[in-house]
Amino acid sequence: MTDAPVRTTCPYCGVGCGLLAGAQEGVVRVRGDPLHPANLGALCSKGSALAETVGLEGRLLRPRIAGRDADWDAALDLVAQRFRGAIEQHGPDSVAFYVSGQLLTEDYYVANKLMKGFIGAANIDTNSRLCMASAVAAHKRAFGEDLVPTTYEDLELADLIVLVGSNTAWCHPVIYRRIIEAKERRPSLQLVVIDPRRTATCELADQHLPLRAGTDVLLFNGLLSWLARHGAADPAFLGRHTHGAARALLVADNTAGDVGAVARGCGLEAQALQRFYERFAGTERVVTLFSQGVNQSCAGTDKAGSIINVHLLTGRIGRSGMGPVSVTGQPNAMGGREVGGLANTLAAHMDLDNVEHRRLVQAFWESPRMAQRPGLKAVELFEAVHQGRIKALWIMATNPVVSLPNADRARAALRRCEFVVVSDVVADNDTAALAHVLLPAAAWGEKDGTVTNSDRRISRQRRFLPVPGEAQPDWWIISRVAQRMGFRRGFDYAGPAQIFDEHVRLSTVGNGSARAFDLGGLAGLDESGYAQLEPIQWPVSSDGRRGTPRLFTDGRFYHPDGRARLVATVPRPPRFALDEEYPLVLNTGRIRDQWHTMTRTGRSPRLGSHFPEPFVDMHGADARHFGVRCGTLVRVVTRWGRMTARLRLSGEIARGSLFVPIHWSGPTSSDARVGALVSPSVDPLSGEPEFKNTPARIEPYVVNWYGFVLARGPVSLEGASYWACAERGAFRGYEIAGRQVPGNWPTWARSLLRIEPRADWIDYQDVHAGMYRAAHIHGERLESCVFIGPRPEFPSRTWLASLFDRPQLTAAERLSLLASLPPISVPDRGPLVCACFGTGRRAVESAVAEGCRDLQAIGRKLSAGTNCGSCLPELRRLIAAAKVADR
Ligand code: SF4
Repeated sequence: MTDAPVRTTCPYCGVGCGLLAGAQEGVVRVRGDPLHPANLGALCSKGSALAETVGLEGRLLRPRIAGRDADWDAALDLVAQRFRGAIEQHGPDSVAFYVSGQLLTEDYYVANKLMKGFIGAANIDTNSRLCMASAVAAHKRAFGEDLVPTTYEDLELADLIVLVGSNTAWCHPVIYRRIIEAKERRPSLQLVVIDPRRTATCELADQHLPLRAGTDVLLFNGLLSWLARHGAADPAFLGRHTHGAARALLVADNTAGDVGAVARGCGLEAQALQRFYERFAGTERVVTLFSQGVNQSCAGTDKAGSIINVHLLTGRIGRSGMGPVSVTGQPNAMGGREVGGLANTLAAHMDLDNVEHRRLVQAFWESPRMAQRPGLKAVELFEAVHQGRIKALWIMATNPVVSLPNADRARAALRRCEFVVVSDVVADNDTAALAHVLLPAAAWGEKDGTVTNSDRRISRQRRFLPVPGEAQPDWWIISRVAQRMGFRRGFDYAGPAQIFDEHVRLSTVGNGSARAFDLGGLAGLDESGYAQLEPIQWPVSSDGRRGTPRLFTDGRFYHPDGRARLVATVPRPPRFALDEEYPLVLNTGRIRDQWHTMTRTGRSPRLGSHFPEPFVDMHGADARHFGVRCGTLVRVVTRWGRMTARLRLSGEIARGSLFVPIHWSGPTSSDARVGALVSPSVDPLSGEPEFKNTPARIEPYVVNWYGFVLARGPVSLEGASYWACAERGAFRGYEIAGRQVPGNWPTWARSLLRIEPRADWIDYQDVHAGMYRAAHIHGERLESCVFIGPRPEFPSRTWLASLFDRPQLTAAERLSLLASLPPISVPDRGPLVCACFGTGRRAVESAVAEGCRDLQAIGRKLSAGTNCGSCLPELRRLIAAAKVADR
């Protein structure tokens, strides 16, 4: 659509990187925007691969009713009629929206306005509840408003950065890159990682504290007490700007006043803990960055609160290079918070349980019926659906059947629900399969709006692709339904610029500096002002020219008395304790190259190469204890569900725990939706689920054969007990395994690969060894191949994959194929390390062995690590391993 690239923003994590994106003659190109302050041109592997993910395969391009294509009028009428009918019959609380941090602020604003101001209930909640609601609750409790006080530059200005519950290197890679570059420029910058796992983020850390899962409050209470006892508190700041220090300290002293006891409770060495406390006390400029490892807990609000406490006690907030930082998982979790996308908040950082705020918003919206009390938070909401209390549910841009805890119950809830609407960009996922009405939404690159990143920076997402089929932006879809429900005047928007202006004006209503969220300086932006809006951090100055990088510089907080609160936090264990039946802690999280349920990143062959199938990671000693072997299939079982995946022993996991990535779903694996295993327990204040701590057990998943398939076309997987698939470009790769041994492998394989009887087919079988290999060749080109064996040990997929690029196979290659031996001329690259250049581990190890002993040398020889930098921690690890081996 565009010749010149447009300036837009990445649709993945909360770092909010700026991009230059464009399409010319059908070729999409995306690169980092050097002028965007969040990333200054840098991108991670996911951002770098965006161009590979924008194809139309699998897109929902027309509305569908009951599985059949429909026109927009019919679909919108039906949605409006069913929602209106439920409200008339059962009241406004009988309907709900479940929305997403993927929505743009304008979409979010309109959805929230419809539910809270016109339907008159607050049953709108967002999948952001699952990742950062605890930070929101902690911010409001401590600061009086949901505020991240720092700016990314503070990370570069700090002398000590403490990363808590955050695999920053994989989950917020560009922030990590900024930290590492700052440390390279200024080696005195210290980095401490507090995380039960030894993740890639630990590679360059000065200290890693592998605390026992769930003991963060104990550790930070211990720090609070230690700081006070060692003269590190700032009495002047406490006296002028805070309340609650005495009580918070009393609780900290009583619960964590002894370093040795705290260390034992956290499973740490006392000396190591003491060293950390001394570092913290002795460094003025400290930034403490936290993420899902803190938030996703039944004590998430207190965990975040205990971190904020140490910054308030020491007065290390509101000045350069210091403060607590919550980083969000999603691109617009912050924008959602601004418009009241959570069931317990109102728009523009106003509060639902504040009568005056409700009055202000109602008057501004000219709303007929305002919600009077908070609505149902995500887990409660789906429980209400299950109980039949919600009669009509609209899910926007999210896949809760995969991502919610106790996800099988969420699926059962949708099956029971009288009316489910899903608006999304994909035609088929676990949630869409249960919708009565599917509404096609415009995707990233096809729509206009704004997002807010983790340092309060509002940036434009801009359209650079044509909108395909009949897809429409979410704000349009919601507005049209609202109008058909009878709310014509409040939803007659001409476009996102008008919605943004309304959002801006609402931020000023009744404000007068009472709330930090104030965009007043941007009021009255016309279409062209909106089109040219530069990234800006709120609050925005009255002339709209300047944002506010850092909050609380004047020591004023947003409680009515202007003071912050230190909050007493009592350590408490996870909701469910381990026992004989479930002796392990199940922890879930992200991997480097995938995003959410892989509906977008799963389309990129290079992103799919890093981890092509779901896995369970655990400690080697635990694996021996529980009788499971690396590379075999295992089953993880909890009180709520079970899953099957490959066992990995990465060396990153402490004894007693399991780690499983969140990304695999129904379309990409036979049985690896880890959400189904996660306990539905939530933090009592924030409602955020405990994704990091579910009691679990592991057992072998016994199969009689293993195998893999590479195929250009579709395959039939019914005969496999286990499968997982990944996009590989010219073909798809499937890992498979089975319990039933087919009576006739050739017949079975032809059926699997959907091969006609007379097709060109070569195969090899060793009945005694339990091996079978076959390949289908059409013309001279390899169409598909299947390898079966009794153990999960197979030839390199790298050289097999390279055969799919050949227009014709030579006789030698056919022989190699069945002999399962790559020709000597085709080196096996091993598991993927660098997604940008397709560099495998064996290539890196060879380069290191040949003398490349630093990143620059590796980069010169292989290019690996010279683009997005996401693989740098892995490269460092391989170099370090070689140096250890040399000693
Ligand atoms: S760090 Fe990566 S995923 Fe996150 S916004 Fe930047 S490019 Fe996107």
